[in-house]
Amino acid sequence: MVVESEKPLTQYHINLLQVFSENVNNGFNNIVLCNRLSELAYFDPQLNIPNRAWLVRFLDNLPTSERCQSVIVALNIKDFAELVLSVDSDFLSSFLQQFHRKLQQRFKAQRVIARVTDSCFIILLNSEDLPTPQAMAKLNHFKVMTNNVQLHAEASVALMNLCELTTVSGRELLHMMDSTLLQSQREHLALIQYNPQFRSSILERHQLMQGLNNAIDQGRLLLMFQPKVRLDDGRVMGLEALARWREADGHYIPPGKFVPVAEMSGLINKLDLHVMHLTVTAIKRLLDAGMPLPVSFNVTSSDLDDLFFMDSLDQLCRESPQITQWLEIEITESQTMQDYQHVRPLLQNLIDKGISVSIDDFGTGYSSLQHITELSATELKIDKTFVDAMERDKSGEAIVDMVIKLGKRFNYSVIAEGIETPAQVQQLSALGCEFGQGFWFAKPMEFDDLLNYLKDKTKGTDGSAI
Ligand code: C2E
Ligand code: MG
Ligand code: MG
Repeated sequence: MVVESEKPLTQYHINLLQVFSENVNNGFNNIVLCNRLSELAYFDPQLNIPNRAWLVRFLDNLPTSERCQSVIVALNIKDFAELVLSVDSDFLSSFLQQFHRKLQQRFKAQRVIARVTDSCFIILLNSEDLPTPQAMAKLNHFKVMTNNVQLHAEASVALMNLCELTTVSGRELLHMMDSTLLQSQREHLALIQYNPQFRSSILERHQLMQGLNNAIDQGRLLLMFQPKVRLDDGRVMGLEALARWREADGHYIPPGKFVPVAEMSGLINKLDLHVMHLTVTAIKRLLDAGMPLPVSFNVTSSDLDDLFFMDSLDQLCRESPQITQWLEIEITESQTMQDYQHVRPLLQNLIDKGISVSIDDFGTGYSSLQHITELSATELKIDKTFVDAMERDKSGEAIVDMVIKLGKRFNYSVIAEGIETPAQVQQLSALGCEFGQGFWFAKPMEFDDLLNYLKDKTKGTDGSAI
């Protein structure tokens, strides 16, 4: 510190100046620390470019007039998680740097390039600088030279015009972009343009999810029961429990509407756990009524990975062993086959506990044949589409015939679902199918109606009990 003074400095002045210098020094240190914090909070550590938080803040502060002239392009590198696992961190850093450089080359007039998730980059542009449709069409493929290795990176691309969204917060905009990219992945689209309908369907899904959560908590998630019968004499040999969501006004929302949303949101484990408890209650009531029957309920593969769900099932088997033999789970063939090596021991574990396992919608998953000799299942349930096709053409009949023969050969019980006509019953019986389920026999019904139905079934034609 240089001090200009007419008088010599006293010790008192020198002390004061020292305190003053310390403060200035602390001030500078704080600026460095703040800069570092802001760097950590707002910049991607690998590429030193703006991150998601930076972009959110930037979009929030963008004046409406500028937003109106802006578009954002999002590029999501496909199979990025696999890439991360298969290369070392230096290679990955180098790949990301090259990829970023390619983006700079392809979007020369960009205002910002931000990395908003590990695999996703967002480029903010003025509308007039948007690449031509021909150039946009090339954005799905990148050749990236990394450490003398040429990698072909595939990306899904989404486009959002900010002019239609001037009042939406930056956070919400990026969330909408995430959903748009998800949509493009689901539909295998090369390029997707954000459509306001996406937002309303997201909101609708969100409301549905909250409503479903409340319905479970408030006991408005109920079960209907559909009989499974022997085809030769129509005797009931089991039941399937099917979830129904009763709205406050009494009308039912079918599972086709809420199960996919529950699966997407992770609420499915809570839903299926609730269904499991209701199924157990139904089994107990049937035992008490002197009409013991196996009751199946539907699960998804994520239930098998959910520790809470599996612990609850374990506990139930320990506490009520008399229930286990009547309990059956149904899991679709496509879910079973998605990660067969992982799912198989989990299903086998259930079978070892005495719980039956039915492979639902069998025939639609396409990939079971190679595993048919060793499926961890007790039952194959032929999908309704084949039961329908059976009447129409020979190939439909051939598939049903094949499943029945294979099922018998490898000791699975085989049931056909969605039977609606006596002709289907006849055809299935002729092919050797022993069991069936469908509207021809009975529609799903509430428990009290089921008890009456079962009582009627056990009466002779003259009304006497048989
Ligand atoms: P799913 O397990 O294959 O159940 C059969 C579906 O076909 C049921 O529809 C049933 O009502 C319907 N069905 C039965 N017989 C006939 C027939 O003869 N004709 C026609 N047109 N349909 C028939 P639902 O109850 O709407 O269930 C649809 C799907 O929702 C189920 O297919 C199952 O995959 C899923 N689901 C139902 N309840 C649950 C649940 O508690 N948890 C899970 N994870 N999924 C469930
Ligand atoms: Mg089912
Ligand atoms: Mg089915």
